[in-house]
Amino acid sequence: MLPLGSTIGILGGGQLGRMMAMAAAQLGYRVIGYAPPGDNVMDEVCADFFANGWGDKAALAAFAAKCDVVTWEFENVPLSAVAAIPESRLCPHPRALETAQDRLKEKRFVEGLGGKPAPYMSVDSDRDLAMAMERIGAPGILKTARDGYDGKGQWRIGSLRDADSVRFPGKPCVYEGMVDFLAEFSVILVRAADGEVRFWDSTANVHRGGMLATSTLPAGDVIEAQVPAAREIARQTAEALNYVGVLTLEFFATADGPVFNEMAPRVHNSGHWTIEGAATSQFENHIRAVCTLPLGSTETRFETIELRNIVGPEALDAYAILAEDGEAHLHLYGKKEAREGRKMGHVTRVGKARA
Ligand code: AMP
Repeated sequence: MLPLGSTIGILGGGQLGRMMAMAAAQLGYRVIGYAPPGDNVMDEVCADFFANGWGDKAALAAFAAKCDVVTWEFENVPLSAVAAIPESRLCPHPRALETAQDRLKEKRFVEGLGGKPAPYMSVDSDRDLAMAMERIGAPGILKTARDGYDGKGQWRIGSLRDADSVRFPGKPCVYEGMVDFLAEFSVILVRAADGEVRFWDSTANVHRGGMLATSTLPAGDVIEAQVPAAREIARQTAEALNYVGVLTLEFFATADGPVFNEMAPRVHNSGHWTIEGAATSQFENHIRAVCTLPLGSTETRFETIELRNIVGPEALDAYAILAEDGEAHLHLYGKKEAREGRKMGHVTRVGKARA
């Protein structure tokens, strides 16, 4: 158990880290952040922040020397940067990053545990792309194997006639068949160092333009029926990685059961509702897990919950929500520029308390 006043290092500087740092402060810990210079909205809620590049080994070592444990809020932290931090201080183990940073690796990994991804093929050239489209067919999506998020690094191919308009982008990719899904959901779990696993309820997730728009509970019959099988895959993934902390797996609910989309070795946007809606939030339980404190209950506290993301210039009017609805929980991340397509905040609304 990390004693009171210990220091937690967080790699990455975004909103996930900001909410994680706030949960850590509540538990009496200090947080230090590390991310390349930029609009690092976590720095406002940290005791100290290293704005240094991922290649700056001296800065990484100085950062690590100040921390009792180091975790992350961003899954694309380069492995070379993580290697500059003593492994004994890292939590979760970096093998989770290694797996999740590459779409091909994560699909193969989860497939090996019995999970079912969409049909896919690796694409390293125009020729591979043509072959993948021929074998898998269209519609489909070409995705960069690394560094994609929120629908970035993705090209949709509606039919084989559109194929000419899409070229191999010059970096390793995966071509996936388009899944005819009934709904989307994620499984968010927390695993403690002693192997205990707890799950939050799975929300129905609606995406717009590849980015999460809303997460709602109850998630509906289709999702609820598929959650047990999806949880089993998620549990096995966590166990196979000997994972400690919060882990997320995204799924499509289809007529043939849950289809694995991708995993995130971290807290997740579709779990932001847990701040007000669950007995213990995903952020607090991640901190509890990496500090080897007892996990908190993940139980949902309300009959209905809706999380909605506030994206781009919409954030400029967001305070109006407070006048319209005294029960709305508004979270703004403090990002300086309300650029189109940028996650700026979210609002959570809860219904009647559960009996
Ligand atoms: P991703 O970045 O892979 O999570 O993709 C973002 C969103 O795009 C997903 O949540 C889906 O809404 C959609 N999407 C991605 N891959 C597929 C697929 N193979 N079939 C259908 N929809 C997809």
